[in-house]
Amino acid sequence: MAETFRALVVDKPEGTETQTVAFREVDEDFLMDGDVDIEVIRSTVNYKDGLAITGKAPIIRRYPLIPGIDFAGRVIASRSEEFRPGDDVILTGWGVGEKHHGGYAERARVSSGWLVPMPEGLDYDLAMAIGTAGLTAMLCVLALEEQGVTPDAGEVLVTGATGGVGSVAVALLAHRGFHVVAVTGKTQEEAYLKRLGAADVIGREAFSGKVRPLASGRWAAAVDVVGSTTLAHVLSQMKYGGVVAACGLAQGMDLPTTVAPFILRGVRLIGVESVFTPKEKRIAAWRRLASDLDRALLEEMSTHISLDDVPEAAARIVAGKVKGRLVVDVA
Ligand code: NDP
Repeated sequence: MAETFRALVVDKPEGTETQTVAFREVDEDFLMDGDVDIEVIRSTVNYKDGLAITGKAPIIRRYPLIPGIDFAGRVIASRSEEFRPGDDVILTGWGVGEKHHGGYAERARVSSGWLVPMPEGLDYDLAMAIGTAGLTAMLCVLALEEQGVTPDAGEVLVTGATGGVGSVAVALLAHRGFHVVAVTGKTQEEAYLKRLGAADVIGREAFSGKVRPLASGRWAAAVDVVGSTTLAHVLSQMKYGGVVAACGLAQGMDLPTTVAPFILRGVRLIGVESVFTPKEKRIAAWRRLASDLDRALLEEMSTHISLDDVPEAAARIVAGKVKGRLVVDVA
């Protein structure tokens, strides 16, 4: 009889519109195509996983599906020249946890082209304390750097600062010497944000209400994970020539702005996308993450949960109640 393993499976039985979420024992035949088999050791809960499991947004595009958009683990079988049994690998993106089985199971089978070798200096725990959220934060910082933003340009804003992307962005920017101003709805977490490296912490009320086309310009750069009205306020508060890296929609997908920040202040709005980032750029970003992030801070940012806790954590992250990163101990 084929060996079985435990998996969280989201399904939508025929003729129904509601998703079911349940733990199941499945075997190898359940896995999808791929040239590398992996023992999943750690996964995480990202905002997108929350949307997928709660069904709050149409993230899952085939049923039944094992969700989990990222994982770290050990190769157990490989039909690719690139990886051998025993190699430690990281997976983020490429539609895993959306249309290909993801990280909330003890086994995964994926394409070798999607995998990144574990960078020197990271282990399963640290890699998943970073995860998709941390990689995205790094891509935002790289986007600002590519636009020529340097610490002497002025203050840099990070919205949704206590969340996964926000926490890592604060730490990365502070490490590079930026004066980081963290925006949060959880002002009681000021001490946490300052330990990560924020110089100042401000409440999110300053980014709510009616948006003026231009407000007084304060920020040289920003990393925005929130979108919607918040991003519109950020744009109107940018200094001349300011750069905003936008990667998220925790508040909403809309953007009630005007062209004023762009045509009157030369503000640049740069979109950041992590799912289909080419492999070379990913590897470079992971190397930077391994070298720039303080291990103690990564541990401080992360809370470990078990696979059993994932459905409940999914609801919490969508409600904006999670601080830092949730690491799932799969093995
Ligand atoms: P988290 O839930 O960990 O962080 C989001 C944070 O945003 C919350 O902690 C909260 O921070 C703030 N927030 C939540 N709801 C609201 C609201 N209604 N209004 C204002 N602020 C709010 O999520 P992640 O860090 O995992 O992801 C953040 C965003 O980035 C998500 O939208 C996600 O989809 C997106 N993302 C995009 C990627 C890409 O490739 N483009 C990859 C990864 C993530 P606080 O309480 O501190 O204000």
